[in-house]
Amino acid sequence: MIAPSWMTDDVVLFRDNVRKVFEREFAPLEERWRREHLADRSVWRQAGEMGLLCTSIPQAYGGAGGTFAHEAVVAYEQGRALVNSFSINVHSGIVAHYLLAYGSEVQKQRWLPKMATGELVAAIAMSEPGAGSDLQAVRTSARRDGDDYVIEGAKTFITNGHHADLVCVVVKTDAARGAKGVSLLMVETAGLPGFRRGRLLEKIGQHGQDTAELFFDGVRVPAANLLGDEEGQGFRQLMQQLARERLLIAIGAVAMMQRAIDETLAYVAQRQVFGEPLLALQNTRFKLAECQTEATITQTFVDACIARQLDGTLDVPTAAMAKWSSTDKLGRIVDECLQLHGGYGYMTEYPIARLYADVRVLRILGGANEVMKELIARSMERNA
Ligand SMILES: Cc1cc2nc3c(=O)[nH]c(=O)nc-3n(C[C@H](O)[C@H](O)[C@H](O)COP(=O)(O)OP(=O)(O)OC[C@H]3O[C@@H](n4cnc5c(N)ncnc54)[C@H](O)[C@@H]3O)c2cc1C
Repeated sequence: MIAPSWMTDDVVLFRDNVRKVFEREFAPLEERWRREHLADRSVWRQAGEMGLLCTSIPQAYGGAGGTFAHEAVVAYEQGRALVNSFSINVHSGIVAHYLLAYGSEVQKQRWLPKMATGELVAAIAMSEPGAGSDLQAVRTSARRDGDDYVIEGAKTFITNGHHADLVCVVVKTDAARGAKGVSLLMVETAGLPGFRRGRLLEKIGQHGQDTAELFFDGVRVPAANLLGDEEGQGFRQLMQQLARERLLIAIGAVAMMQRAIDETLAYVAQRQVFGEPLLALQNTRFKLAECQTEATITQTFVDACIARQLDGTLDVPTAAMAKWSSTDKLGRIVDECLQLHGGYGYMTEYPIARLYADVRVLRILGGANEVMKELIARSMERNA
């Protein structure tokens, strides 16, 4: 495949190194993590030492001082290696960038260097039992009391939730003001009275990922942990960061599509049916040709989005297009590829079976695909 324009020589070198790390260090551990429903905590330190965390955070805050291209490489290689038991996207791609964009100097100096080493693991807690797509409906409240906020509420489906030491929590600081009453509060969880983690949630896929419920029962955090200069900025802050978050999901989707196709090509080349390789059948050849065409078209679009993210012109509707179309196509490609594996495709020891279960959620999280289409339609309406 042609190297995209954003893949400069230093990014290629970085990619080769990242690929080795995921393939050699982490991929062999996935099976155990899936069995144990949790990655080892030490993996975060290891990822920090190997330069996988906070790649696009400035060196002044402990990051690697790279660009979105470096982050894109990490997202791609993590997807390609099928290592999804710890979310670097949430940690580095989302929370670190909220801090960089909206944090005070003190907040940045306090948290970013430790996130870059993996000493602190970060999570973002938006979703609640009664509010997912509709974030204005969040009920977790933060009431100002002297120099503190007091948080009451519960969050669910939180990625990295079990290991997280630093959680960016979406709260209502003013329940009467709708979106304008939403704020982001950074919560350090270590030994925090009133903070409790619920069970690790049982999922149909991504079995090694520590997706958890979080409970806040009169939790006190310093008022200085608010992100931004004043209350009520949370909704705007969330909206501003969504394009890059969704693009990261699309990059992972492209990587997993290609992995699904590569796995299937290798399988059908050796599997014998009716005295010849499965690959010799016209149906197999056409299905794979269709899948590769779809994957190449998607990758080309996502590469263009990466280039736009790098030059600061990626907008919300275009990122929404990348998110919904890539995850939708990924689902269809993985399904076709599983079919070509026959019964073996249904056995979890085969990567295609794990992919089948793991990727389903990508059409739901990060904004459901229907929400993506709504965003695109709204921008079309504005231009009509
Ligand atoms: C494995 C996993 C990891 C997650 N990680 C995190 C995390 O780290 N942090 C976090 O905060 N959340 C996380 N989530 C939550 C995720 O973001 C939500 O599940 C998602 O936003 C959808 O919200 P919901 O589940 O409440 O569904 P609902 O909002 O109830 O929506 C249900 C369905 O309704 C449809 N729908 C919703 N809105 C619209 C609309 N406007 N137009 C048309 N149809 C619509 C869609 O089909 C949608 O799937 C995670 C979820 C999962 C499953």
